[in-house]
Amino acid sequence: QESKLRQVQKMEAVGQLTGGIAHDFNNMLAVVLGGLELAKRSLDKDPEAAPRHIDNAMEGANRAAALTRQLLAFSREETLKLEPIAAGELITGMSDLLDRTLGDAITVEARDRGREWLTCADRHQLENVILNLAVNARDAMKGRGRLTIVTAGTHLAEHAVGRCPAGQYVTIAVTDTGHGMTPEVMERVFEPFFTTKPIGQGTGLGLSQIFAFVRQAQGEIGLQSRPGKGTTVTLYLPRHIAQPQEIADSPAPLPDVRP
Ligand code: ADP
Repeated sequence: QESKLRQVQKMEAVGQLTGGIAHDFNNMLAVVLGGLELAKRSLDKDPEAAPRHIDNAMEGANRAAALTRQLLAFSREETLKLEPIAAGELITGMSDLLDRTLGDAITVEARDRGREWLTCADRHQLENVILNLAVNARDAMKGRGRLTIVTAGTHLAEHAVGRCPAGQYVTIAVTDTGHGMTPEVMERVFEPFFTTKPIGQGTGLGLSQIFAFVRQAQGEIGLQSRPGKGTTVTLYLPRHIAQPQEIADSPAPLPDVRP
């Protein structure tokens, strides 16, 4: 049952994606073909204009290449290795990477209030999710501000956040002091290909990938944002309770010695 549900959710995400991809890819091809067509015509009549049309075509092709790179990152999820993870530790382990990625003018603070709770996820995928959120935060702060990542645990009632079933969740809250989002932008951020960034800087796939990731994990995303103040993205990932099998896999306890 569970795996069926998971499959359905995956197909939903894939269906939504392929529709968006076909549409966007077509637009990019139209730019490439249009540019080449104009360049070809201008060769006779206006040779000086040709380079500009070729540049346009190349820009379209570059965008298409960026898109396929993102999609390949998606398809790697077939080789996911799910394992129990202490999210706080994973994020603390990323401090150097985050500091380097965000630059000197952004302070990064990672606080762990939920060390004893585990979640089940693919380590690389979770790292990518955090990195994606951090890069979005950096862009919103225009390189200057404060990024705070707080890991904790919480008990949610049924549908307290989105479609989450009731239960215990590991939460990862990523807060920035950036430009925030208008209600109109907030409505659309999880749509594949929605971006407010200039051409070539945003693919609009970051948050939709993160959405697909948490939904596959049977979790949810919370979003709080105020224009001019900043944004908090909160991931809710189901708590993982170690199974007897995993306990058996850990180092053997001392033998029970009886007289
Ligand atoms: P991309 O970053 O490529 O635009 P995303 O799906 O990651 O794609 O984000 C979609 C849009 O959501 C962004 O273009 C931006 O408008 C908005 N957004 C995402 N994260 C933030 C943030 N931390 N602060 C403000 N706006 C954000």
